[in-house]
Amino acid sequence: TPAPRCQAVTVLGATGSIGTSTLDVIARHPERYRLHALTAHGSREALLALCRLHRPAVAVLEGEADAAWLRERLGEARIDTEVASGPQALVEVAEASEVDVVMSAIVGAAGLLPTLAAVRAGKRVLLANKEALVMSGALFMDAVSRHGATLLPIDSEHNAIYQCLPVEHRGGLACHGVTQLLLTASGGPFRGWSAEALSSATPNQACAHPNWSMGRKISVDSATLMNKGLELIEACWLFDARPEQIQVVVHPQSVIHSMVAYSDGSVIAQLGNPDMRTPIAYGLAWPQRIEAGVAALDLFEVARLDFEPADEAAFPCLRLAREAMSDGGTAPAVLNAANEVAVEAFLEGRLGFTGIAELVARVRDARSVQPASDLATVLEADALARREANRWLDR
Ligand code: NAD
Ligand code: MG
Repeated sequence: TPAPRCQAVTVLGATGSIGTSTLDVIARHPERYRLHALTAHGSREALLALCRLHRPAVAVLEGEADAAWLRERLGEARIDTEVASGPQALVEVAEASEVDVVMSAIVGAAGLLPTLAAVRAGKRVLLANKEALVMSGALFMDAVSRHGATLLPIDSEHNAIYQCLPVEHRGGLACHGVTQLLLTASGGPFRGWSAEALSSATPNQACAHPNWSMGRKISVDSATLMNKGLELIEACWLFDARPEQIQVVVHPQSVIHSMVAYSDGSVIAQLGNPDMRTPIAYGLAWPQRIEAGVAALDLFEVARLDFEPADEAAFPCLRLAREAMSDGGTAPAVLNAANEVAVEAFLEGRLGFTGIAELVARVRDARSVQPASDLATVLEADALARREANRWLDR
């Protein structure tokens, strides 16, 4: 087969856990990928180091003062990376005509507008930023099909399901004989903990995930099982599934990344070591396969695979997310916004661990569900939910 044309990649959130794993995979294939842009929020030193190593055409930071600092350092080092700042610059590097692939790896709602810009420009979009899809579900998927974007899920569970589904799964799950999506969950660092122990769980305990090393926000989400709730919503949109068609299966080894059950009794699973470079490489090269730097799976070392149901009484976030998906409209955006505020408050020591679910439920009860008819409505629901959450924290 002929060598593929070298693809230009923008990495949104380049300094994060997913961002650096993406750069690791890309650096293994310099003939296939070159970097158009790398973006970061406040971590200017980390972005400088990445610019030295990867020489992107553009680097983007949040604030202009940080951007000026980076411009000066790059000038001294005679690196001709252009430096820009602010939310509009994120949108520009996501939709630029010279870009083929956009890795969406900003954490939280801040990733929504640049990710949508990439979708609307018809890019290949590698979606790690689940919050963007959770907030804007129908609008996002509609934009994907309207603008001919190629959406590849990077979240390991969704990447696994994607790999286990028929190549062409449009038209709904039922017409391909799919009966259920089995979404695996590690159970997080607090699996099996009592309600009492959970009430005094600390941020450092929550961020010490048994199998995956990740950013702090998603680590807390994994500990509350809100991550699995957000993933349930994400799976509904990506695969056109109803919440009842998705079963959460706690699988502490994190070797099976998810499964698809079919009407003839077949269950197809995707396995691998817990290393995000596998789904990232899959998304980059699809439909081809490339080397990702991931060690071969040693099944004798794994030795056994365990499964159990999720404890929804101790971890109410999973139920709250399922209910938000069933409520529809702006409910998932409200859930996500309240959770982002709650997680930040927990990490800052202003809210206890079990207070996260409590705060999300309170904000849900205080906000009415609107039809998510346009982006402005979604962004307003997000803003009002944050205000309500902060009001409750300040009470
Ligand atoms: P992280 O905290 O390690 O990195 C986040 C990146 O986004 C950083 O580059 C940061 O500079 C940037 N960023 C943060 N706030 C920003 C803002 N307001 N504006 C612009 N940029 C901002 O997070 P992560 O663990 O890499 O996760 C990134 C996304 O991928 C999340 O949505 C997460 O849910 C998803 N995800 C992560 C993993 C994982 O293994 N880490 C797995 C599946 C999905
Ligand atoms: Mg996941």
